[in-house]
Amino acid sequence: MIDAGLFAGHVLCTVDEWMSVQTGPLVIDTHELGRRPGNERTYHLSAEVPTQWGYDVYGVPAGSPIDLELRLEALVDGILASGSTTVTAVGECVRCLVPVEDEIDLDVQELYLFDRPSDEEEAEETQWLEGDLLDLEPTLRDAVVFALPHHPLCDPECPGLCPECGTRLADDPDHTHGEEVDPRWSALTSLIEPDSVIEPPKE
Ligand SMILES: [Zn+2]
Ligand SMILES: [Zn+2]
Repeated sequence: MIDAGLFAGHVLCTVDEWMSVQTGPLVIDTHELGRRPGNERTYHLSAEVPTQWGYDVYGVPAGSPIDLELRLEALVDGILASGSTTVTAVGECVRCLVPVEDEIDLDVQELYLFDRPSDEEEAEETQWLEGDLLDLEPTLRDAVVFALPHHPLCDPECPGLCPECGTRLADDPDHTHGEEVDPRWSALTSLIEPDSVIEPPKE
């Protein structure tokens, strides 16, 4: 089966439920699904993340590949989209600045209403279809933001950087700059050095 109708305005083909999308946002044309309650279709989508998801310092970069298992089901008032995927977030350890990478499993479920709610407050918390088009991106992006740790660490025990020279302490745990000795004490120190111990006079 070759299906050219699902992704609005983008190159795609579907072969036995496998679909590949070359570019473009995660916009799905639900025309084929129809609106009769109970209608249901499942898809496998391969796409690219259209914008950075997450924070500047840590997130899923634009252009990352995304493979998504998706089920669309028509209900009385809208289309229920259920999807699961795994994405890779990249960034830096907040303590020692080495690159960190996390696999994030996402399970999303969102009802896209057929019509935009007239109530503004309700509209803020709701997704709806634009005509037959269903945009999965806001749902996936919100799920990523929710799942991301706020303080990415290379290791929960990361000791960070040496405050004096910036060396990464995890690479050099015994790192030291030697004891700084106050010059006023140095005369005293020499008294307790082993080679200056005064032997008691022999009898
Ligand atoms: Zn670290
Ligand atoms: Zn140091």
